[in-house]
Amino acid sequence: MNEIHRPLRPEYDVVVVGGGPAGMGAALGAREAGAERVLIIDREKEAGGILWQCIHAGFGLHYFKEELTGPEYAQRFLKQVEEAAIDVVTDAFVLDIDRELNVTLISSAEGIGMRTVAAGAVVLAMGARERTRGAIHIPGTRPAGVLTAGLAQKMVNIMGCLPGRRAVILGSGDIGLIMARRLTLEGVEVCGVYEIMPYANGLNRNIVQCLHDYDIPLTLSHTVIEIHGTHRVEKVTVAPVDENLRPIASQGRDIPCDTLLLAIGLIPETELARQLAIRIDRVTNGPVVSSTMETSMPGVFACGNVVHIHDLVDFVTEESLLAGRNAGTYAIKGQLSKDTIALVPGEGISYCVPHTISPDREHTIYLRVRRPQERCSIVLGDLYERRLRYAFPAEMIRLQIKPEHLQGFEGTRLPVELRVP
Ligand SMILES: Cc1cc2nc3c(=O)[nH]c(=O)nc-3n(C[C@H](O)[C@H](O)[C@H](O)COP(=O)(O)OP(=O)(O)OC[C@H]3O[C@@H](n4cnc5c(N)ncnc54)[C@H](O)[C@@H]3O)c2cc1C
Repeated sequence: MNEIHRPLRPEYDVVVVGGGPAGMGAALGAREAGAERVLIIDREKEAGGILWQCIHAGFGLHYFKEELTGPEYAQRFLKQVEEAAIDVVTDAFVLDIDRELNVTLISSAEGIGMRTVAAGAVVLAMGARERTRGAIHIPGTRPAGVLTAGLAQKMVNIMGCLPGRRAVILGSGDIGLIMARRLTLEGVEVCGVYEIMPYANGLNRNIVQCLHDYDIPLTLSHTVIEIHGTHRVEKVTVAPVDENLRPIASQGRDIPCDTLLLAIGLIPETELARQLAIRIDRVTNGPVVSSTMETSMPGVFACGNVVHIHDLVDFVTEESLLAGRNAGTYAIKGQLSKDTIALVPGEGISYCVPHTISPDREHTIYLRVRRPQERCSIVLGDLYERRLRYAFPAEMIRLQIKPEHLQGFEGTRLPVELRVP
């Protein structure tokens, strides 16, 4: 899969930027819609995205109805991409997309160098990057041993080396939880996971399987307020935070360690979208998309973690197949029908994707709540209600909306709210 299947063509129906699960799903969707010339471009040596380093099980339960590891999930899609004769160029970085949909890439692969290919439609599937120490301004010295959890995962699972011997993990997102277990299995002493919010930020199954099963303590409403050490981390100071998330330094305590792993969130990789002046959602930090996954720039679609951060790869695939099918249709027909209803996140909802819908089609709406809530409902105006026993910000909620739910609605803005009886 390291080479393109045939020489890079000057023109494609659909060009997909990023070859992770979103990019592969989009390319397959485009082929399904009838696009003949489809290209995936990925900057890594192999397509597959983040999945190669996720060697734990937990992928594919919804899509394949079986539990796969990340590499197994990637392999299934790579096979389909190969069988669908989709061109793949790896080791190639997309530098620019212009408003006529010319895509410029640079690659060290033989015979490529810097090239521009014309596209009938483009799908942005560049995934997300991890927030680093700079994003939350942790004071202290700058010794070795402070790294993001995803980088530590790559070191352990791909490069075969340990980041340290005694670690503190800041942030209870899924990557932090998975790394707490992974490091413990490799003999690293994990002193604890510290979370600034009063609730955990990862999936419940990961709290149980990665922390409880290994007796790793999770301390809520706490953060790291200082990093100490000259060459290598020697200790970190952790402190509780007040109700406004401000650290109470007087109650701080030192934890000796040589490693601080940061699992403090992912940010969509949106440079290319911003260069194109595509509208960005201030909450997700990803592009605003219609129900066809088209961005504010006609002919440019987006899917996967570049749009909003997903917990489960299965939903990335579902969303990306849709984006790809619509990109393929756009490339063939030149346009798509427009949505007429804007979804407006209201009380208790942090965001909804897509941002607009159409009353005559079935839609899958993904959303997150702002706070944990027991026994509640998600409502779309007075048209639709979904009751939930629990809702957590860490667990994406997925609604299936049918045309009959929207029957008789003539407005243009539909509020989406968390309702507590
Ligand atoms: C540590 C971790 C554990 C996870 N565990 C689970 C789990 O147990 N179960 C589950 O279902 N999901 C899990 N997930 C979630 C799932 O893996 C992600 O939601 C999914 O991989 C996102 O897919 P993506 O294609 O959007 O992004 P990615 O997989 O990040 O792929 C994006 C690709 O785009 C490429 N790219 C970016 N910019 C450019 C550019 N300019 N030019 C060329 N290429 C570019 C990148 O190289 C990368 O290959 C986990 C995620 C992580 C990080």
